[in-house]
Amino acid sequence: MINTISRRAFLTGTAAAAGAALIPARTFEVFAQERRQPGPIADRITLRVLPFPMKQVRLLPGPMKNAADSSLKYLSSLPTDRLAHNFKVNVGLDSSAQPFGGWEKPDVELRGHFCGGHYLSACALSYASTGDETIKAKGDALVAELAKCQQRSGYLSAFPIEFFDRLRDQQRVWAPFYTIHKIMAGHLDMYTLTGNAQALETAQKMAGWAGDWTGPLSYDHMQRVLRTEYGGMGEVLGNLAAVSGRRDLFGTVRRFEKASFYDPLSERRDQLKGLHVNTHIPQVIAAARMYELTGDPRYRDIAEYFWYEVVGERSYCTGGTSNKEIWDTDAGKLSNALGPTTTEDCCAYNMMKLSRHLFGWSADPRFMDYYERLLFNHRLGTIDPETGTTMYYLPLQAGLWKTYATPYDSFWCCNGTGVEEFAKLNDTIYFHDDNSVYVNLYIASELQWPEKGLKLRQETNFPHEQGTTLTVTADRPSDVALRLRIPYWVAKGQVKVNGRVLPVFSSAGSYLTLPGPWKSGDKIELSLPMHLHAAPMPDDESVQAVMYGPLVLAGRLDEISRDRWYGDEGPKPEPATVPTIMADATNPVSWVEPAQAQQLVFKSVGQSQPLTLQPLATIVHQRYAVYWKVQNKA
Ligand SMILES: [Zn+2]
Repeated sequence: MINTISRRAFLTGTAAAAGAALIPARTFEVFAQERRQPGPIADRITLRVLPFPMKQVRLLPGPMKNAADSSLKYLSSLPTDRLAHNFKVNVGLDSSAQPFGGWEKPDVELRGHFCGGHYLSACALSYASTGDETIKAKGDALVAELAKCQQRSGYLSAFPIEFFDRLRDQQRVWAPFYTIHKIMAGHLDMYTLTGNAQALETAQKMAGWAGDWTGPLSYDHMQRVLRTEYGGMGEVLGNLAAVSGRRDLFGTVRRFEKASFYDPLSERRDQLKGLHVNTHIPQVIAAARMYELTGDPRYRDIAEYFWYEVVGERSYCTGGTSNKEIWDTDAGKLSNALGPTTTEDCCAYNMMKLSRHLFGWSADPRFMDYYERLLFNHRLGTIDPETGTTMYYLPLQAGLWKTYATPYDSFWCCNGTGVEEFAKLNDTIYFHDDNSVYVNLYIASELQWPEKGLKLRQETNFPHEQGTTLTVTADRPSDVALRLRIPYWVAKGQVKVNGRVLPVFSSAGSYLTLPGPWKSGDKIELSLPMHLHAAPMPDDESVQAVMYGPLVLAGRLDEISRDRWYGDEGPKPEPATVPTIMADATNPVSWVEPAQAQQLVFKSVGQSQPLTLQPLATIVHQRYAVYWKVQNKA
């Protein structure tokens, strides 16, 4: 749970947005190589801030770049003929390729979601992030192969169209539209991020097919269809409408709006209990995108209320949400909702995506505080450094461990969102308005803003370093303001410009504005001291995690043998007993102290058994404990 944000704070409307200038609706040019790239249909709302096109931001060496490199290596290792196999077989084309296993096995009903969907998105995002022509070529080759498999109706899938008959007749079927969404989004990303025109054509035909399939169904019948998971159909159709100018697609988007989910949210009622989490977050992303494209405030109400409710009432210390893939408790009741399948990784991916929309509307630093929480605790550290594969759940029950996918025989949903996530680690570090740069995240990277003749180089070993250094290169003196995020966890920071300490600083949870002018060689050194703090459960403060700055600390328990590192969808419940902590529950400093501060290693003080704590993201093959029962010593 995020203790700096509560439902009450939202309902009373305390918005602490930074003083951003309003900017005109984005143009096609501004958004080249950004995922929400519009074309003929521009946004109807005015955004306060925009992300930079991904090609203008490059990662520099550090933990994020290591993760991105390892994911790209994995992507590059997947052969095109194996990726296309099920699609070809589905339309009777010859394929002698060896099929993949896991959720891409030829008899699994979700087949195609990764191979023809997430994979293309990840190739496109990787190309935008790195400029790697080889990965673009792999994406292009697959787009060409899949185009051969598209039927005259526009249907493109690795499973037969009869699955949709079962969906229409309300017979048992896994999630056909979920898979169609991934394939459409993969193709659209190949167009918007790499310029592949054939991919746009494929996506357009698929949208036509989706319109033809849903059109004849009555409203009530379609609402019944929407009980089966359908991913981000609304989002991809909205994005496609924007780039193609096809307003008729908004009608198809509306067919994918589930009234029983949207209605209570628009009235600010939390009826989330019992819902499958990752089925629903993409529907809210669709609402957010439709708010941008239509200006209808109902969509905004849905997206904002949902975000505050999930983040404030249904999220753990890592920022992750879901238990057993559902919201299985009343709002704010999380202390008994700890198990082997807490916090599905897809949910983290999708909540980050939603947060970017809300940040664009408001420039409110709270969205970036939350983004950072997920990024440094739930994304970093969920990729296996050896194979580049990712996890399914991030278990938060004490004594469990991380289980990673196998390269060719898993292909869980979260491996799909995983390859996308690690291909776009550069997309949120910097945003901008008409004349300022928002430095949202402290990640070693370089930003180019050619329209302003400005380059920013960010050098940092964050979070091992408690701060960052920005160096300016400017063609001419630049009056672009730099707005540095001062995170919620900072107690006392400091900023130096060209070695001189500025007499002012901003409060935690805000942006510190440095107005310039800037010339080449100017150096900004930001110091963000971290300290230990507790992250208690909302319904039981004696159950709590320890954090250091943005980092959730985990107790490092015994090693896991290699045969248990990979393959299962999640560890079997086999929790270890961890000691009850006897300490002051309001103050983690009373029982945790730095052991090797530089390495972010901590140790327990005065407990029945000695414990070593380190950032959860740096645990790889060990059992761990995140939440502790803390009893007052008295
Ligand atoms: Zn998943």
